[in-house]
Amino acid sequence: MHIVELIKKSEKPFYSLEFFPPKEKEKWQEFYAVVKKLKAINPLFVSVTCGAGGTGQENTVEIASEIKNTLGLECMAHCTCVRSDKVKMDEYLNQLRNANINNILALRGDKPKNADGEIDESLMSHDYKYAVDLVRYVRENHKDFGVAVAAYPAPHPESISFAEDRKHLIEKIKTGADFAITQLFFDSREYLALVDELKKEGIHDCPIIPGILPIQSLASIKHTLSLCGANIPGKYFLQLEKAHEEGGSEKVREIGLNYAVQQIKTMLEYGAKGIHLYTLNKADLCLELIDRLK
Ligand code: FAD
Repeated sequence: MHIVELIKKSEKPFYSLEFFPPKEKEKWQEFYAVVKKLKAINPLFVSVTCGAGGTGQENTVEIASEIKNTLGLECMAHCTCVRSDKVKMDEYLNQLRNANINNILALRGDKPKNADGEIDESLMSHDYKYAVDLVRYVRENHKDFGVAVAAYPAPHPESISFAEDRKHLIEKIKTGADFAITQLFFDSREYLALVDELKKEGIHDCPIIPGILPIQSLASIKHTLSLCGANIPGKYFLQLEKAHEEGGSEKVREIGLNYAVQQIKTMLEYGAKGIHLYTLNKADLCLELIDRLK
């Protein structure tokens, strides 16, 4: 079933969970145990990332298949354009279809870098310059797939303005995306502004699911922010730094959990249909978060 149908049918706020495939196969059983533990919160669906630059897609297929067909959870596979073309994309989508997965998150992917760490435009896809091109391609050639896209409450780092970035999100939605999942964010006003702006542009029926990351340590949030370009309010960051000095990761985790609880309450009060949790493959952190929301 297309996930958007599940979202539209859902009568109460839902959770969805994002996982990344562990690189080492010997860690997969441990990983599946995490997914099984999180099944307790009854997620509406889970999503499985694919490696930067489209690497490791075979792991995404295998893990998504296990989650859907053995663990019994609806599953969406992430799908990136970089380093791909129509032939490779057809192959990936066929593998997913054969694995009984028919929902994707259509992404452009981050620009690949060469050995010197510089962006190498030659590795970008010639068939799909932006995610919107992939949305169009799937809508025309793989009509059995449900398609979600990424949205950015603080605009995507490459975009020249808020307005430009919103315009490109609207293009993705009008081209056929069923719903969007946001990049993680810590200033809830960014999400509320995004939803308001979409409404002003006539986008009322496309669910924009907020992506929430409970912070577990100062080192991990610094690493995450360096990768994704999300913003963090200065006051909150200083609070985390102080907590780290006073009580290390345990205190940071406590503050991070309480902050995520408040964010989720705000999102749901504002009418978000559900919450997408960036689990970082950690069961206990997510279970504790959901427990605090009861
Ligand atoms: P696009 O929507 O194509 O946007 C990229 C940039 O181009 C933006 O600045 C946008 O404003 C601009 N743009 C878009 N269309 C046009 C146009 N027509 N003309 C000019 N400019 C345009 N990465 C991975 O490698 N693997 C993953 O599994 C993964 N999962 C993710 C999950 C979520 C929920 C999110 C939010 C991000 C994820 N990413 C993942 C990261 C994502 O690949 C990067 O943020 C990437 O740089 C942009 O992808 P996009 O699909 O948002 O690109």
